[in-house]
Amino acid sequence: MKKLISIILAAAALVTIILLSACGKKDSGKLVMATNAAFPPYEYVEDGKIIGIDAEIAALIAEELGLELEIKNVEFKSIVSGVESGKFDIGMAGMTVTEDRKKSVNFSTTYATGIQSIIVTDSSPITSVDDLGAEGATYKIGVQEQTTGDIYCRDDYGDDRVVSYANGATAVEALKSGKVDCVIIDNEPAKAFVKANSGLKILDTEYAVEDYAIAVGKNNEDLLTKINAALAKLTADGTIKKIIDKYIPAE
Ligand code: GLN
Repeated sequence: MKKLISIILAAAALVTIILLSACGKKDSGKLVMATNAAFPPYEYVEDGKIIGIDAEIAALIAEELGLELEIKNVEFKSIVSGVESGKFDIGMAGMTVTEDRKKSVNFSTTYATGIQSIIVTDSSPITSVDDLGAEGATYKIGVQEQTTGDIYCRDDYGDDRVVSYANGATAVEALKSGKVDCVIIDNEPAKAFVKANSGLKILDTEYAVEDYAIAVGKNNEDLLTKINAALAKLTADGTIKKIIDKYIPAE
C-alpha cells in the first residue's frame, strides 16, 4: 500500500512538473508584444481592441515572420524589464531608444520620431520650456512613470517638482484638476489628449526630440535580425509611412 501511494505521489509530481514546464514554455508560433495602450495614436483601445501605429506595424512584422501577434497591455514601466526577462518577445510602445534602456534590451532600427511636448491649461502662466527652469520656479510637472519625460524632468528640475503617473491619461487628469501645472509627454499623444479635453493647449516649444524603436531581448539576436529585415522591407515599400500618415494626418 505504502509503495502504491508513493508511486501515485511520484506520478502526480511528474504530471505537475510537465504541466508547469508546458505553461512556462513560450508558444513558438507567437510573437508576444508588450505595450501600454494609453498612448494614442501609437497604441490605444477602441471597441475593446488595441489599435494604432505600433499595433499595425507589429501585425505586419509578425506576418513577415510567420508568427501570430499577441499584444499584452501592461504598464509602461513593466515593458523593458519584461522583455529583458523573456516574458515578452518584443516591446513596442512609442518607446524611445535610450542608452540606459540599451543596458537591458536591444533596439531595432528606428521607425518613427517623437518629440517631448509640454501641455498646459489655456490660462497657464507657463509659456515656454524656459519658464520651467527659471530661477525660483516651483511649477509641478506631471509625467508618465519611467518614460523619458519622467527621467529627463527629474534630471533637469529635481524629484520634488515631478509627479509620475501610470499613464498619460491620468497625468492629464491631474493637470485638469490642478494637481500639476503642466504635463510633459510625447507630442502625438499630447495632441490626442488636448483634442479630447477642452481648456488645454500644447506649448510651441520642444523639450526633447527622440527616436522610437522596438525593444528585443538581449539573447534574441535572431529575432532582432528578422525584425530589422521586416522593418527595412516595410520602410522601402512605403508601408510604414502609409500607416503613420493614416494615424497622423499632415496638418
Ligand atoms: N517615448 C517615451 C518613452 O519611451 C514614452 C513612451 C510611452 O509612454 N509609451 O519613454
